[in-house]
Amino acid sequence: MTRIFDDPSNFANEALAGFAAANRQYVAPVDGGVVRSTEMKDGQAALVIGGGSGHYPAFAGLVGQGLAAGSVCGNMFASPSASQVYRVAKAANAGGGVLLSYGNYAGDVLHFGQAQLRLNAEGIETRTVVVTDDIASAPIEELSSRRGIAGDLTVFKIAGSAADEGLNLDEVERLAVKTNYRTRSLGVAFDGCTLPGASEPLFHVPERHMSLGLGIHGEPGISDHAMPSASELAELLVSRLLQDKPDDAGNRVVPIVNGLGTVKYEELFLLYGKIEAKLAEAGLETVEPECGELVTSLDMSGLSLTLLWLDDELEHHWAAPADTPAYRKGHLEVRPHRDVEQLAEAATADVEPPTTAAARLSAGAAAMLEAVRAVVVEHEEELGKLDAIAGDGDHGIGMRRGVDAAADVAAACAESSAGVDRLLIEAGEAWAEKAGGTSGALWGSAIIAVGQSLGNRDSYNDDDGLAAVTAFSEAIMGLGQAEPGDKTMVDALVPYTAVFTEHQQSGASLGQTLSAAAGQANEAAQATAEMRPKKGRARPLAEKSIGHPDPGAVSFGKIASAVATAYQDLNGKGAQA
Ligand code: ADP
Ligand code: MG
Repeated sequence: MTRIFDDPSNFANEALAGFAAANRQYVAPVDGGVVRSTEMKDGQAALVIGGGSGHYPAFAGLVGQGLAAGSVCGNMFASPSASQVYRVAKAANAGGGVLLSYGNYAGDVLHFGQAQLRLNAEGIETRTVVVTDDIASAPIEELSSRRGIAGDLTVFKIAGSAADEGLNLDEVERLAVKTNYRTRSLGVAFDGCTLPGASEPLFHVPERHMSLGLGIHGEPGISDHAMPSASELAELLVSRLLQDKPDDAGNRVVPIVNGLGTVKYEELFLLYGKIEAKLAEAGLETVEPECGELVTSLDMSGLSLTLLWLDDELEHHWAAPADTPAYRKGHLEVRPHRDVEQLAEAATADVEPPTTAAARLSAGAAAMLEAVRAVVVEHEEELGKLDAIAGDGDHGIGMRRGVDAAADVAAACAESSAGVDRLLIEAGEAWAEKAGGTSGALWGSAIIAVGQSLGNRDSYNDDDGLAAVTAFSEAIMGLGQAEPGDKTMVDALVPYTAVFTEHQQSGASLGQTLSAAAGQANEAAQATAEMRPKKGRARPLAEKSIGHPDPGAVSFGKIASAVATAYQDLNGKGAQA
């Protein structure tokens, strides 16, 4: 039960503010999370971690020397938004690029991924390593789809040490990938956790039972067991993890016994003793173990065992000193403190003020988004019905929410004479934030990518148009990872981009190019009717979807046509877009 709050909906924010106040020697709050309050070394790589709140010490408690440079803090158990990730990473960056690392959950992957695109486009070299240690969440052949649990700590610790020792971003990334591969965890739950303001736990485990492999947000486990003795539990966890040993594992391991919220330290210690004995029986040497609360799940009753299989370089970085609110090891010289106000400023975007000509182009961009709004509103119901056939029926309402937010923000930006880049970036952020759903995250980041590609200029030529279309398409394909034939909007987008490029290169006007590409996108969208979905929510209902076009492909085609028409209208009136 969570009892201490004024307003449960503000729990995560207020807890974070209090955390930062209680730990000023380590962290400073910025919009979206916290960064180190001590100086980073000039040009060093910055490790930025994060995820939903409710997992303390993950993630904010691991920010400090020898570990993370910053942490993005979402709402309770909810991914932070892309703009939160972007702002924290910007404030954490010390000129040596950013490694984003977090547990593998769909929402986090989308939002951190969007932020990565934006940071890279702005010249802040950004990489990602997602943590996939939970052996219960997918078989070993699907290692990369496993979710992240307490193994977060080993990846963060080793990457953070490498970054602070001055290794470059390539090396920090390499070590994080290797640590993740050599980290395996398995958890058990005895009872569920209760979100602030809720009267019931998110899930229950039957009395005197335990659920093996239950996720830290109540995702289903792999099997239920009668409550074992401590020795039996140690045997179960160790034997399952040894079966899942990585290739080339040596005989030196770091065991981590992690309490998820309400299991007492004495119980964890008792279990740890038995686990260490089992590991010794298996001929393994334990190195610098951890036993305590490292990645929790509010007041969940449960625990996990993680094994990190060491080699020399991993052992070096695991053993290196660290000094953070929740994790301290060895001795570190405390670096000087930074100017906290400057940090907060670093978390905002640099935008050049637009010229009069640039502001006029913004009016054109806002008008285009109005045209997109009009076509989405016109087809909202139809798109919802199409998505209901094999999906969850929210494509119409989702697109509507997204475009409403984006067009409103764009209008306000144009009114205040913002440049095209600023307008589209803010519109894309608003779209992603308000739409929810897969398509919202994809459309939002694609619009942001277009804004970054176009920049803030006095005029644009046809090549800029092609660059913008390419940026749009790369954002969708890079983030969503769908292939042609998977039955998604990509099946309309790829032919659109191909026809656009062809026309452009053969010297057609932008107006003709836009119309020809839109025509092709609509045809391709209809042709998805015969395909079977392989990505997205429609996958489980593949059969039902055959004979009906993909909703995301259909909406893309309609929007492409609306953009072509709007461009012609605008150009007819002598404006340029
Ligand atoms: P959700 O699937 O979250 O309910 P929507 O219903 O708004 O989101 O959007 C569904 C559409 O999103 C699909 O019809 C498909 O075109 C598109 N989509 C889903 N997953 C992907 C992906 N990985 N890449 C590209 N497009 C995708
Ligand atoms: Mg849907």
